[in-house]
Amino acid sequence: MEHRIYIVGMGPGREDMMTGEAVRALEQADVIVGYTVYLDLLGSRFRNKEMISTPMRREEERCRICFEEARKGKRVALVCSGDAGIYGMASLMYEIGREYPDTELVAAAGITAASSGAAVLGAPLNHDFCTVSLSDLLTPWEVIERRLEGAARGDFVIVLYNPSSRRRRDYLRQACSILLRTIEGSRVCGYVENIGRDGTRAEVCTLEELKDREVNMFTTVFVGNSDSFILNGKLITRRGYGIERNIDFCGNH
Ligand code: SAH
Repeated sequence: MEHRIYIVGMGPGREDMMTGEAVRALEQADVIVGYTVYLDLLGSRFRNKEMISTPMRREEERCRICFEEARKGKRVALVCSGDAGIYGMASLMYEIGREYPDTELVAAAGITAASSGAAVLGAPLNHDFCTVSLSDLLTPWEVIERRLEGAARGDFVIVLYNPSSRRRRDYLRQACSILLRTIEGSRVCGYVENIGRDGTRAEVCTLEELKDREVNMFTTVFVGNSDSFILNGKLITRRGYGIERNIDFCGNH
């Protein structure tokens, strides 16, 4: 194929949380395209590159810019936070890519917020888990509600992305109310704000308490399963090794 675009997941923020593959993809690029905030996070290392930023919610335009720049013969990298294929722009790039059959898309995986946030909190994802985005910009709320109910019934650890925004302040409260139909109020939970960025803050609490917490759009929320507990302030989900049963944990067991 004539042209190639790298779709790069930059991880949560700090450069040392980016994979080597992602760094190389950005280094070889002539032009880096992304949402303004992410381009700022890339820091001084890539300052010599041509940067094209578009505001939030102009995703289609951002994708088309990539293909048009590639068509001019430039090496293009599109950056997304975390992993570009997890609530990111990767699928839109493939869809729009049908109109540009001479352009190859290559994805570089990134550390998604579920993974980087879990590392801050302890080991909450050490068994089956699922992620649900609370953003209803592109997904009807009924679908989100159905998935929350299913996740609760399946006793998954649940990771909530997009728990809040300026226009949707009470979505976390609503989500907690739905989960509380199935899950007991004392279930252990945690959340992390600004993972891998200045001002990282982690909290653990119960599901009942979570319902009344104010979180912002740079927060990822974790709801434990029935085998999760708090150990020295860390949120842990048992894998099932026998030893774990014999230790006197504090928590909801
Ligand atoms: N592609 C991204 C997710 C984009 S959706 C990824 O794989 O991580 C945006 C949501 O991701 C935010 O509302 C928040 O819930 C989560 N998120 C992304 N980066 C974060 C960070 N640095 N700290 C905390 N949460 C983050």
